[in-house]
Amino acid sequence: MPSPAPLLRALLLVLSAGSLAAAAAAPISRDDPESSDPGRKPISTAAGSAVVVSANPLASSAGLRVLKEGGTAADALVTAQAVLAVVEPQSSGLAGGGFLLYWDSQQQNLEVLDGREVAPRSSRPGDLLTPTGKPLPWREATARLNAIGIPGTVALLWEAHQQFGRLSWGRTLQPAIQLASDGFLPSPRLLRSINLAQRIGVGHNTAFTALYLPGGKPPPADQAFRNPQLARTLEALVQHGGSDFYRGALARQILREMARLQAGDPDFRGWSPTDLSSYAVLRRQPLCSEQLKHRICTMPPPSSGGVGLLQTLSLLNQSTDLPGSSAADPQTWRQLARAQAWADADRLYWVHDPIDGGGPAAALLDPAYIKGRADMIKAKPAAEPAPGLPPGIGRYPYGRPNQGREQGTTQVTIVDRFGNIASYTSSVETVFGSRHLVAGMVMNNQLTDFAFEPQVDDQAVANRRLPGRRPMSSMAPTLVFKQGQPVLALGSPGGRSIPHLLSRVLLASLVWNESPQRSVGMPHLSSRGQGLVLEQDPPIPWPLPLDQLQTSDQPARLQRVGSGTALVQRINGRWHGAADPRREGTALAIADLSSRHSRCQPQDLKSDP
Ligand code: GLU
Repeated sequence: MPSPAPLLRALLLVLSAGSLAAAAAAPISRDDPESSDPGRKPISTAAGSAVVVSANPLASSAGLRVLKEGGTAADALVTAQAVLAVVEPQSSGLAGGGFLLYWDSQQQNLEVLDGREVAPRSSRPGDLLTPTGKPLPWREATARLNAIGIPGTVALLWEAHQQFGRLSWGRTLQPAIQLASDGFLPSPRLLRSINLAQRIGVGHNTAFTALYLPGGKPPPADQAFRNPQLARTLEALVQHGGSDFYRGALARQILREMARLQAGDPDFRGWSPTDLSSYAVLRRQPLCSEQLKHRICTMPPPSSGGVGLLQTLSLLNQSTDLPGSSAADPQTWRQLARAQAWADADRLYWVHDPIDGGGPAAALLDPAYIKGRADMIKAKPAAEPAPGLPPGIGRYPYGRPNQGREQGTTQVTIVDRFGNIASYTSSVETVFGSRHLVAGMVMNNQLTDFAFEPQVDDQAVANRRLPGRRPMSSMAPTLVFKQGQPVLALGSPGGRSIPHLLSRVLLASLVWNESPQRSVGMPHLSSRGQGLVLEQDPPIPWPLPLDQLQTSDQPARLQRVGSGTALVQRINGRWHGAADPRREGTALAIADLSSRHSRCQPQDLKSDP
């Protein structure tokens, strides 16, 4: 065993080299979707009978007003998402996609809505390859019309509102319309994101540059920023309902504008009216597992994030004495890093749109299978993680995908005073998606989440692009139950790192019994292939010396981590919210109304178009 001094020197070398590299390169990768905000900020927290946590103060306060008027978590979610489309367009919007876990308190039922983008009918597996069959460089691919999936966000919001809303649809969209037409002061993060988009490339869409880079520069920080076109789009939705996006005049406008853009991109074969009209939000069964003495329910495929999160916790449980662990114990952190890496190897190989027959999500969580994987890690800790063969599968049916890059996502978590809970992760993929603007909306580039190479070594890759398919995701909105009742809800952006971030937060909340604020603000670590990223400048300092986290098989480097966790937790009968200070997240609450709480029942006050 090497003496500590050379080991420490070696680590410092790796760490300093890594941090220099991180500072020089643009903070854009599949694992680091959006940069974290520089400097330390206080962690926004709030507690009461109803709580809303989102990535932007304007979205949280608009959502809170809706809750105060007696709206449900679904109403507040529609409001928050519509406002985010205006004030945080770099991360989510009406032309993106997302996943919702919704706890319906009255029915005591957990619903899962899948509003993921879909590949249009004209898609071909090799659409993101060069003419010579090589994967397109990632930056180039993000701007391609072929990267834009048929958006699911509006359909998801409409569906959630139809089923769980209480206020009128028009009321829920009003704050966003007002902000888009009257204007708002652009936040520092929005302005930084515009700079980042400019660095990736924006020249391919004049509407985008006219709006976000007037005169070639980001809009002034001290003047109201308006998006009148988006206000008109939102007004059309108020008037005609969510179906306008898919089957009405708005659908026709989207198709017209996409056809116009097609002239500049000869590889794009276009969208048909059927692409929009056949879009459907899918109801899925939550993926649930008993972990950390709780029942944890999360997003099933086409997301791999939920499988990854549950596998990570399960592997960790096999390798560490969790009840006896503390945040200062290096062993727990090291095992967490290994568990993440091994879970990644499985999820990134196996998970794909279950449209062509269920993927092996349940088998990947089989206790005997997990035990076998944990034993393998114990026997050969330095071995390179590889996908396993879960029970019932005798051979590897797919090619092993090569990894690329990605980013551009937000999390909203809301509990209302009726006890309904929304945990919602929503994305346009890269910062400002494809940087194409249609009807004032940022168009996603979510189809870069498909494997660019449909075949590897003559075997089809599971997550290949096919018409009507949804690309594999890492987004994992999650709810945690104790004795059948929800006690915690969370989610985060973070691209490939999402299950890594969430596993660390849950470890802090459920095992180390940290407060919501500390659970969100404590440092992250994230396995990246054979390497390990240790968070640089975390909001709450590392609870142990970093040299204790170095292992020979996972060289560590320091890097900022752009998580955006939104968490609500029930503690002693009261809901507490905490927002990630790495972005502009804000938690707001309705002060306790315990005497009125039990009398307040949802009733139908809706008047929809
Ligand atoms: N497109 C990614 C996914 O669906 C999310 C990217 C992000 O978190 O920024 O997994």
